[in-house]
Amino acid sequence: MSADKIMASRRAFLGAMATGGAAAALPMAGPAEAQQVSTNASIVILGAGAAGAALANRLSERLDGATITIIDPRQEHFYQPGYTLIAAGLKPASYSVSTTAEWLPSGVRWIAEGAANIDPETQVVTTDGGETVDYDYLILATGLELHYEGIAGMSRDLIGQNGIGSVYAGPEEAAATWREMDRFTETGGRALFTRPATEMKCAGAPLKYTFLTDHYLREKGTRGRSEVIYAAHSSSLFSVPIVHEKVRMLYDDRGFDTVYNHVMTAIDPGAKVATFDTPDGPVEIDFDFTNVIPPMRAPAVIRESGLAWEDRWVGQGWAEVDPYSLRHRRYPNVFAAGDVAGVPKGKTAASAKWQVPVVEDQLVAQIAGDTTDHTYNGYTSCPLITRVGRAMLVEFDYNNTLTPSFPGIIAPLEELWVSWLIKEVALKPTYYAMVRGRA
Ligand SMILES: Cc1cc2nc3c(=O)[nH]c(=O)nc-3n(C[C@H](O)[C@H](O)[C@H](O)COP(=O)(O)OP(=O)(O)OC[C@H]3O[C@@H](n4cnc5c(N)ncnc54)[C@H](O)[C@@H]3O)c2cc1C
Repeated sequence: MSADKIMASRRAFLGAMATGGAAAALPMAGPAEAQQVSTNASIVILGAGAAGAALANRLSERLDGATITIIDPRQEHFYQPGYTLIAAGLKPASYSVSTTAEWLPSGVRWIAEGAANIDPETQVVTTDGGETVDYDYLILATGLELHYEGIAGMSRDLIGQNGIGSVYAGPEEAAATWREMDRFTETGGRALFTRPATEMKCAGAPLKYTFLTDHYLREKGTRGRSEVIYAAHSSSLFSVPIVHEKVRMLYDDRGFDTVYNHVMTAIDPGAKVATFDTPDGPVEIDFDFTNVIPPMRAPAVIRESGLAWEDRWVGQGWAEVDPYSLRHRRYPNVFAAGDVAGVPKGKTAASAKWQVPVVEDQLVAQIAGDTTDHTYNGYTSCPLITRVGRAMLVEFDYNNTLTPSFPGIIAPLEELWVSWLIKEVALKPTYYAMVRGRA
């Protein structure tokens, strides 16, 4: 890269930071500034992750007198966008770990148990410890479930052995994935990458990890004796056609072998063979290293609640909400935000960033006997890493229209240092500001 380009990149980064921090990664919507509303309503939030904690913070400021209860058994809070950096050997596992307690506001009751049952008719949630909690309004923010058992022969405890990685499972598993990838790239061989056929969080992550493995193979001089295979679940690499085309070109340039309509159904860890369902029947591909990405679905409590879509995403159980208001289509006192929301885009922290203020405003308006035209447009963002030090900042909406936060400064489909910095430096503080309800 020339000195001029480096300077231009630096200027772009500083410009981006000056105009709103990591706005392009998690665009700023501003904290709750509207007037407080007095109410004695009882609000229950299921899940204290990115979306749930952000809503607890924002609603506790907006509502005076409400009883807000948040239910989540997890003591740790995981900053999941950091997993890719951990699995690239750039951050330690601790980079993604904080505590749930530190993000929850005082005045909100936290029940540290799982929600086991929801009865939307009687408006009662039952925890797995047997406590029952009545609600006037319910917010579903449970995130999603990684269904490793949906791949025959696969389980979480295989991650970090026999060339098997999985960036998704958690910070420790991401670090174990790095150890396997680091070992593999020392010698080279066949690397196999996949994605599931279900909806998934951060659909760019499987693509990023393919690029990152290629990066290390080249850096260590083992690319020449290696094969990189990407098995796409459909006939496309990415749901937004223009992004698919750009990634396809980059994959061709890097010499990846892309196969389409391949869905991983089984893995034999000892033999290092994966089986794929394809239109031509089962196909086996052996590997020296693979990044297993399991099918994803809503947690059982949502799937079995009567609140899930029945005729869309069958078997995945996403909450049946209106894509714009995020209000449940049959139970108007129920909302969903984050990965569990059954909407056609989203499932990134950046999407949650845009969804949370919509749920807040819709709910507060409803409590006040009012309406609002504040809606979610499907905004989804993915800093798509293409090598260490470069990324493309891909942002789009329900219509597959690219929605760059910095038109003229950060080109969405160019591999830029500034976009890498947004992922590597700026995204984490912006994420935590969101969780705190401040961005
Ligand atoms: C590898 C990877 C890379 C990613 N990269 C990016 C990126 O670059 N940019 C980006 O914007 N996003 C990225 N994401 C996606 C982002 O992390 C998620 O979309 C975001 O965390 C979703 O927030 P959430 O609140 O819906 O779910 P979560 O943050 O997962 O929180 C869900 C919470 O619900 C709780 N819960 C589950 N079941 C129950 C139950 N039965 N009862 C009560 N509580 C329950 C869980 O314990 C958890 O605390 C990435 C994700 C991964 C895995």
